[in-house]
Formats: sequence, structure tokens, C-alpha cells
Amino acid sequence: MPASIAALQDVLAGLPPADRTRFDRMYDFAASEARVLPPPAMEPWIANAFKYLASTPEGVLDAVRRQPITHVMNRATGQATLFNAVRSQRPIEAKAATDLEAEIEASRPKCSFCRPLDLTPANTFGRIGEKKTCANVAAYDGYHGLAIFEDHSPLRFRREDFRPEEVADLLATARAWAEKCHAEDPEARFFFLMWNCLWKAAASIIHGHAQMTVGRRFHYGKVERLRRDAEAYRQCMGASFFTDLVAIHEALGLAVRWGGVDALAHLTPAKEREMVLVADRYDDPDLPGAIWRALKVYAAQDVKSYNMAVYMPPLGPPDPAWRNFPVLVFFVDRGDLAAKTVDVGAMEFYASAVVSADPFALAEAMRRAGQCKVKTEK
Ligand SMILES: [Zn+2]
Repeated sequence: MPASIAALQDVLAGLPPADRTRFDRMYDFAASEARVLPPPAMEPWIANAFKYLASTPEGVLDAVRRQPITHVMNRATGQATLFNAVRSQRPIEAKAATDLEAEIEASRPKCSFCRPLDLTPANTFGRIGEKKTCANVAAYDGYHGLAIFEDHSPLRFRREDFRPEEVADLLATARAWAEKCHAEDPEARFFFLMWNCLWKAAASIIHGHAQMTVGRRFHYGKVERLRRDAEAYRQCMGASFFTDLVAIHEALGLAVRWGGVDALAHLTPAKEREMVLVADRYDDPDLPGAIWRALKVYAAQDVKSYNMAVYMPPLGPPDPAWRNFPVLVFFVDRGDLAAKTVDVGAMEFYASAVVSADPFALAEAMRRAGQCKVKTEK
């Protein structure tokens, strides 16, 4: 049987002792069973709604009556996720993106990002390139800009001709923008790059774009929280948090290596299909290719709306407080664009993330993406 989050206990039992020790110093987990007792009148509905669980209606009902739950916690950071294997086995149905493509096309005539020089504001230092960046018209920090993609469609990452060079250009553009902010105000050091793709991921403009902010005095709370937790872990355990994080995922079969970048199917994802890339530095020549591969994983999994976020040490001269902090790139799937419900609720904001997708299945998809060829420009 392939490894799965529901069988985490068995996967751990097969680890060599050193790997098990490393797992135990960073993670804890609890396996539970949710008992669900449907009345007879409900049985036909269940047999149909969950038919992917078993080949017979009775098998489906048995699988629904006893649902394995795995709750994983990162003890160093407090990040925790509840996995329900019943939900995680839902097949991925690649739905046609026709309606979505039509909606994206319909937004083109009135799109301000297709005419950035006329319809988007500039930052005080102007723009990067002729029109690659603009200021956010409603800023949420002192320095807040957008990187506007050449293509109107945010689904360009799903196309065959989408290339790693485009990711490299985005990273370089965003960095050049941040350096302008830092040159204008040396206290502005805390660069944060993010990419919200489509409305489920909170993008208010359809045209493909990423966002950059540069904070002053201290980093954004979640980045600073991770720095402090990693530092406390290093002091307490005498081991690097990030080295252990990668090694644990590797031992479990949840990590792949894309060039010099480690890519993890996260054991405590914030939401569905979270991947974490770990690179030594922002200008690692393998980072654009790794981001490109992560996007190819999403394309293959029929993900259309996602968030990407980049954590890194501050701009300017090396800061000793950030000495052991790598560059991290997070990706999270935000679910079905047609669904009216939001994918996060009180559980995610205030308790534990609730996730359906199995990280072991995601790791399989990541291994397949490692084999796909990079198409070079003719
Ligand atoms: Zn546009």
C-alpha cells in the first residue's frame, strides 16, 4: 500500500532510529477515529457521494462510519493540521477551464493592468522596467507595489509554453523594486513577495500579478514568529530547525530536490497541497526553476487559484539575528473557484488547519514534476 497520512504511524515505525528521533524532536501527532452513524434513509446518498471510497455501497458506508483522522503538530512552531483521509481520497477531476477562461477574457477590455502606464499609479522612485511594476492604489504598508505580468491571463502557468525564465524575471523585478525602496529608506529592510492567483486566493484584479511590500523596523509577524521559533529550536535541540525540517520530510518521502532547492510536501500545511521550497539564497540560480516546477505540480493537479509567499532575511548588510534563516517559498491551493464557501474558517484562524489533500500523494506529484523537461526558448 502506498504511504499515506492516515498510515503515518506505520511510516514512522519503518524509520531508522536517528530519523525517528529527529521526527520526535520537531513533531507530534495524534491518530483518532471519527465514528459516524448514518440513519438508513441517509445511506443511498452517502453511497453515491463517497463512491470513490470503495467498490461496493457497503464498503463505502463502512469507510464513512469509521473515518481516520491524523492531527500533526510542529512542536517548535505550533503549526498544526488535521487530516481526514476520507476527504483526501476524493479523485481529482480535471474540469474544463472553459468558463473560467471566458471570464478571464471578458475582463480584458476594461483591464487596468493591460494599460499600466495610463491606469496604475507609480511608486516614488518610478517603475521597474518600462511598466513591470506599479504602486498598489490602496497600499497596506509604506512600501507596497505590484509586479504586473505580461500576460493578462493568470492561468499562464498552466500553459505548455510557460518557462522558468518568466519566474526568474519576476524574482529579479520584485527584488529590484525592493532594493529601490531600501535605497530610499534604509530602515525599510523587510521584503515580502507574494502572489495571489485569482479570487479564491484574494486577488481583486484578474490580470496576473504578484505583490511586494517592504516593512520597516521589524519583519511581518508570521515571518518573525518563524525566525524566533527556529532560533529557540536551535538553542534547545542543538540542531538547525531548517536542516531538520528538510531531513524529516526526506526521511518520510515527502521531499524532492529540484537542482539546489529542497521542495517539501508540508507535513503541517496551512491548507490544501502546501509545498515549501527551501533555498540557500534568493538569487540561487535554481530557485526560478524550482518555482516553475511547483507551478507545474499545481497545473497537473488542476489547481487554478493559489497563494505563493516568499520569506527571506532582511535586505541590506547581513543581520546576525537572521544568520540561520534560509529563503522559503510557500505555495497553497485555495480550492474550487466555483465554490461559494471560503476555504478557511474559525478552525484555520484560531485552531488547526483542516486539510483533505494527502501530503504523500502531493509528494508523488512532485516527483513526477521533477521529471518534466524544461522547454527552452527557440
Ligand atoms: Zn489585463
